[in-house]
Amino acid sequence: MRLVAPREATDEELRRVHTGAHLARVAATGGRTVRFDPDTQAGPRSYAAALKAAGAVVDAVERVLAGEADRAFCAVRPPGHHAEADRGMGFCLFNNVAVGAAHALARGLERVMVVDWDVHHGNGTQHMFYDDRRLLYLSSHEFPFYPGTGALDEMGEGEGRGFTVNLPMPAGLGDAEYARVYRQVVEPIGRAFDPQLVLVSVGFDPYVADPLAGMRVTERGFAELAAVCLSIAGASASPAVFVLEGGYDLEGIARSSAAVAGLLLGGEHEPLSWPATGPMDVLVEAYRQALAPYWPAVRG
Ligand SMILES: [Zn+2]
Repeated sequence: MRLVAPREATDEELRRVHTGAHLARVAATGGRTVRFDPDTQAGPRSYAAALKAAGAVVDAVERVLAGEADRAFCAVRPPGHHAEADRGMGFCLFNNVAVGAAHALARGLERVMVVDWDVHHGNGTQHMFYDDRRLLYLSSHEFPFYPGTGALDEMGEGEGRGFTVNLPMPAGLGDAEYARVYRQVVEPIGRAFDPQLVLVSVGFDPYVADPLAGMRVTERGFAELAAVCLSIAGASASPAVFVLEGGYDLEGIARSSAAVAGLLLGGEHEPLSWPATGPMDVLVEAYRQALAPYWPAVRG
């Protein structure tokens, strides 16, 4: 593994997904503490960190597209996927993954996939590319839950219809349940899309001990999700960039980051299994019914 210090995102890179007014509002927080909403505030150094968080993803995208690396893990904060074009939200100031995806599209890529396994729905990323078929946004998340979006029938609009895929989940799911959803639904859709670049919003808040959410995923489960993302990228001979989002149990973030990074470095991974039948049958069937018109491969 090679460590690379982050660089700041440029104004041009941020403006691909954010409004000038939003950039100016965040820039004005430098050196001060400003509260945007009950969840989201900037401290004196948040603006500097946010510029580097977004810049790190752009830099990682540049490097994998240049063939300098085939996988990257961006250990950045603040997280990004709740940030909308015109405002910060849910601890997020700039939408790091979206800035990276927009950079890849500006470089001429025609198929970019964002897999978002953070326990919360990435409303910002979804909205920024909702009518854009060049970007497949696929999110699994606890539902109903913060921020309230991410229902199964939110599928994109216009040209982008079918290129937003939401997999809302009840609380309490663990490694085996996630493994089944990712192997039976996420993997076939990703392979059918044939992405030229896979970006992953890596939230570690589905972790079993996370204080903010109700899932029960362990580091083994996160390695499985990463394996699915790499399988999608590998089938298309494409690079993958993993970007930290949420996660609020520090020990869990450390263990899970190590598990995912180990997999990115080519570590051994034993695929997880799940019961042949059970309560998950209903959920997976609901996904298949809703998504098969756009992604026939989910029929399996
Ligand atoms: Zn989250």
